[in-house]
Amino acid sequence: MYKSVIIGTGPAGLTAAIYLARASLNPLVIEGEQPGGQLTTTTEIENFPGFPEGIQGPELMDAMRKQSERFGAKFQTGRASAVDLSSGSPFTITLENGEQLSTETVLISTGASAKYLGIPGEQDNIGRGVSTCATCDGFFFRGKKIIVVGGGDSAMEEAGFLTRFATEVTVVHRREELRASKIMQERVQQNEKVKWALGYTPLAVESSPEGVVKGLKVRGLDGSEKLIEADGVFVAIGHTPNTSFLAQQVKLDEHGYIVVKPGTSLTSVAGVFACGDVQDKKYRQAITAAGSGCMAAMDCEKYLEGDMVHDWGGLL
Ligand code: NAP
Repeated sequence: MYKSVIIGTGPAGLTAAIYLARASLNPLVIEGEQPGGQLTTTTEIENFPGFPEGIQGPELMDAMRKQSERFGAKFQTGRASAVDLSSGSPFTITLENGEQLSTETVLISTGASAKYLGIPGEQDNIGRGVSTCATCDGFFFRGKKIIVVGGGDSAMEEAGFLTRFATEVTVVHRREELRASKIMQERVQQNEKVKWALGYTPLAVESSPEGVVKGLKVRGLDGSEKLIEADGVFVAIGHTPNTSFLAQQVKLDEHGYIVVKPGTSLTSVAGVFACGDVQDKKYRQAITAAGSGCMAAMDCEKYLEGDMVHDWGGLL
């Protein structure tokens, strides 16, 4: 029986592991298919405080992992395929290999996965011209031409933000009508740096043999194809929170994100805490995820010590 099991090894899960391990609670951390989370798919991180020269995503995650191990956190490889939270603590976590773990508390930090277009040239160029995070990578495209794919609020937000760096931002959307809210649309429409390619379906990210992105090949509603030239392609077609293994046993919002009591990591189940992007569709930053991981660990510690009643606050 574990005192606490952390599911997920992004900045939220690893920060929670550091705090719980330092509190002598010997957490077990379950690392799934992508150890280290989304940051391992990025290259340089320039906005994580403490690294004036920047740091590579995988290096930062590796350092966080080592830091937690130094205080006694243990790691187990294998995706959590199911959990049984129905009869309260202790909880059962089932791994994909069939192994079952029993724990007094669970911290869920499984993150959210950016949706991709699934077109040729996209995956090969991630971190080399294709990105899903304007806040993370916009700075690398100063004075360049950028494409943003998508017609929702995320695409509008990213397009507006990227005009700070780019000479030109072209929004490519598969329909002529945008999905984004009126106010977000209008804000971007007033921005002279933004061009529109509405009614164009992305077909392929084109790059040179040296791996330099040249633009996005698209097909118009009339069936004609063309290349929209750009140095960077930002895919902003939404995120999917990694919550399907929970089978609705904790309260999720309409988009599948875990609902936590505001200002805490408390979920609808006593003894179950959530941190990082799995409960945050707004900020989605490594530093905010790490901060929420710290909150979850402190909430969990108080709960285990009996100093805190898991008061969900009647949000159900
Ligand atoms: P979204 O609203 O689901 O929009 C996704 C967009 O991507 C849609 O325009 C969709 O096209 C397009 N798309 C999806 N799959 C595609 C594919 N395979 N190929 C090409 N295009 C594709 O997602 P979101 O913009 O991330 O927003 C998610 C939620 O967060 C929304 O509720 C939104 O309001 C909220 N949000 C709010 C803010 C804010 O208020 N500041 C900022 C960001 C997000 P179709 O329109 O044709 O389906």
